[in-house]
Amino acid sequence: MYGPGDVRVEEREAPRIVEPKDALIRVSAACVCGSDLWPYRGVEDLPWPAPMGHEYAGIVEEVGVEVQTIKPGQFVVGSFWATDNTCELCRAGYQSACVNRVPMGGLGAQADLLRVPLADGTLVATPDLPVDDLIPSLLSASDVLGTGWFGAVAAQADPGKTVAVVGDGAVGLLAVLAAKQLGAERIIAMSRHDSRQRLAREYGATDIVEERGDAGVAAIKELTNGHGAHSVAEAVGTQGSMMQAIHATRPGGHVGFVGVAHGVALDAMELFWSLAHVHGGPAPVRRFLPELIDLIWSGQINPGKVFDLELPLDEAAAAYRAMDQREAIKVLLRP
Ligand SMILES: [Zn+2]
Repeated sequence: MYGPGDVRVEEREAPRIVEPKDALIRVSAACVCGSDLWPYRGVEDLPWPAPMGHEYAGIVEEVGVEVQTIKPGQFVVGSFWATDNTCELCRAGYQSACVNRVPMGGLGAQADLLRVPLADGTLVATPDLPVDDLIPSLLSASDVLGTGWFGAVAAQADPGKTVAVVGDGAVGLLAVLAAKQLGAERIIAMSRHDSRQRLAREYGATDIVEERGDAGVAAIKELTNGHGAHSVAEAVGTQGSMMQAIHATRPGGHVGFVGVAHGVALDAMELFWSLAHVHGGPAPVRRFLPELIDLIWSGQINPGKVFDLELPLDEAAAAYRAMDQREAIKVLLRP
């Protein structure tokens, strides 16, 4: 990306093994993230021109001399943070705060070849080479599925609970899927778009709320005897979505926020009176990857449906446009 709205596909110097723990992977599929739209829309500044993309799945081509478990020829999925998976924070399940973490976005996963640092800690191999139909779902585990999953986990979307999801982008829709898998009894998706409502229902939503803001909160209270939801996953990152999430949570309930917050300020007095637990941040996707890959491999979930447009990598500019205009939920890029 050369600046807001300016995406170009060009030849760069091919990545190679730099550190002994690196792997080099041939990217089978990459994609555009909702968070890539912040710089695209000029809301977030990057050191232009910036390589883009932090979601990836592909085949290992080469590994550094200290890589022990990951082998050339394996199909692998990794998170948007490269992490050692051995430090104290990783072992506690917070790999996105790894003391040795490296952001994959800086390396540029919207490419045909990608260097992945800390390969043994970062990458999870599938049992075998996947059939083509599984690749979108496996790619989704790299970020949107793992992030939606963390939103639901952070909101403690457990059996018997009523879970509301704020946001109908890929992460929000997959938070619905996660809540269903985690055993939630009732799942309220907040969306005013037909096609997204349909996918939310397919993923397990039992109710749809079309209203936003105070009206949206009122609608959720009406569905929950005036109490609010036990669990609310927030997957947008704006002031409005965050307040909607906190206000829709019942006292003692949990907010899991995974939308990258931009310009959001929280009033401590409102938090005080909400009596809600609030937990969120960059998802430790690596914690969930083995389980998510299992669920995908065994056909129990089909998160790849959030990709409603597929383009060759050469047409990345059109992919950004389609997501910016909300013509597509999420665009898959094939190198
Ligand atoms: Zn670590």
